[in-house]
Amino acid sequence: MVKKHQEQNDSVLEPNDLHCRFVMFELMLVWTFFHELGHDVQRHFRLWADPHRANGADAFLEFDEGRRGDDLAERENSQPAAPDLRGQARELMADAEALDLTLKYLLATGRLKFPRVYLLLCSISCMLQRFYLNYSDDLTITPHRHPHPAVREEVSQSFVTNSILDFLAATKQTSGRDAAAIVVTYMSVRASLFTGLFRSHRVERRDDPSRIPSYMRLQTEAHASDMNRYIDALMPHIEEQMSEVLQGHLLPDNRLNDWLQLLRARMVAAGGH
Ligand SMILES: [Zn+2]
Repeated sequence: MVKKHQEQNDSVLEPNDLHCRFVMFELMLVWTFFHELGHDVQRHFRLWADPHRANGADAFLEFDEGRRGDDLAERENSQPAAPDLRGQARELMADAEALDLTLKYLLATGRLKFPRVYLLLCSISCMLQRFYLNYSDDLTITPHRHPHPAVREEVSQSFVTNSILDFLAATKQTSGRDAAAIVVTYMSVRASLFTGLFRSHRVERRDDPSRIPSYMRLQTEAHASDMNRYIDALMPHIEEQMSEVLQGHLLPDNRLNDWLQLLRARMVAAGGH
């Protein structure tokens, strides 16, 4: 494909740009597929408040939030529904499954290397910032089906970076987690920074250079307590549903328990549970 592309003299894309775009597109598709599969292998249908609801599958409305259209305008004008915290907790759990399976996909295809993981972090960030279009620019609990995208990104980035540290330690590719943590953290911060600036430039069209772009502002220290408050509000619903999910999970080698321990440790550090 790259060869064919190079033969076209009018292309403005360098081969590396093309590779990068292709890999990001692939990772977005893979992550999305595994997120939906996550709902199934975790058997979320057993946790629905109303198991007979007509639009039962969590998947069907997955991408509605990222779209601007008449339906959405209508929805915005109507009374906001009470947040479904159990449902939002399940979305975070499906995100965890998606990340675990995407990393295993990269490992199985011999591509679990820093450049791919960096592009995975960028892909997740780009997708979630796309969903942010219809969310508020603060971290109050949203009435939407999914948690605020900045919360999803925070939890996702932390799980990916920790999974990579586990992998490096298990395969003896690092002298210690602390040494590797610097590199992995750099990669994660860089992904957030670059995708945030990209969005600011392309989507928000920010014209005041003295202000931090709105999505990036939610990721700063100034919003750390709001972020922890949001996750803290979801924690009881994650804990409550997790025991049933772990019992009935269709993939025995899932890493949901590691994900849960990470969240718990975070909340302890933040002075929560
Ligand atoms: Zn979902």
